[in-house]
Amino acid sequence: MKKTLYIPLALLIAGSILSVVGANSYINESGTALCTACGMKISKSDTSTLAVSSTNGQIRYACCPVCAGMVGLYVKNATITGECIGCGKEITFQLANGALSSSNPAVATMISGGSCAKNKLACSAACEATIRSKNDWAANAPVKTSSQVIAAAQTKLASVTISDKPDSISTPVYALLGSGIALLAFAPVTWVYLKKSRT
Ligand SMILES: [Zn+2]
Ligand SMILES: [Zn+2]
Repeated sequence: MKKTLYIPLALLIAGSILSVVGANSYINESGTALCTACGMKISKSDTSTLAVSSTNGQIRYACCPVCAGMVGLYVKNATITGECIGCGKEITFQLANGALSSSNPAVATMISGGSCAKNKLACSAACEATIRSKNDWAANAPVKTSSQVIAAAQTKLASVTISDKPDSISTPVYALLGSGIALLAFAPVTWVYLKKSRT
């Protein structure tokens, strides 16, 4: 093979590998997050995952309403957005100055199964009944109103250190993607250059 082709080809192959690995990690990282309060790995699209947006637009994710409450109290002013696991309806809790200021729907509750994975939101009494009938653990589990959820978060927050990492794609992933794309773009340039320098 001609020497003029070696370098561009090597760049092309290296660039492709880096881009594919980079794109893969980008997709993985953008779909998952760690609960800001307890560190559990969660999927952002999961119906049980809550997003806590602070007033400066930063978003942090939480695995359950109590964890979300802890994160909300930690940032003091926040909107917690979750979903009714019965019907998918959006449920929001507003926090102002480190206290619950409103809840929408106002009748939203949390079925409290005793652990993060069993703390589930219900938008209405009807959905609460549906969730109870579909999940053994929920059948006799106590229920908490939105203000009781925030009160529980307040109590728990005293014994937990929040590792504050607003959601973002990590730098190594951008570095991988960036260098892959740069190599791909550079390959034809070196080919043209080497060809020219031969003649
Ligand atoms: Zn959590
Ligand atoms: Zn519902």
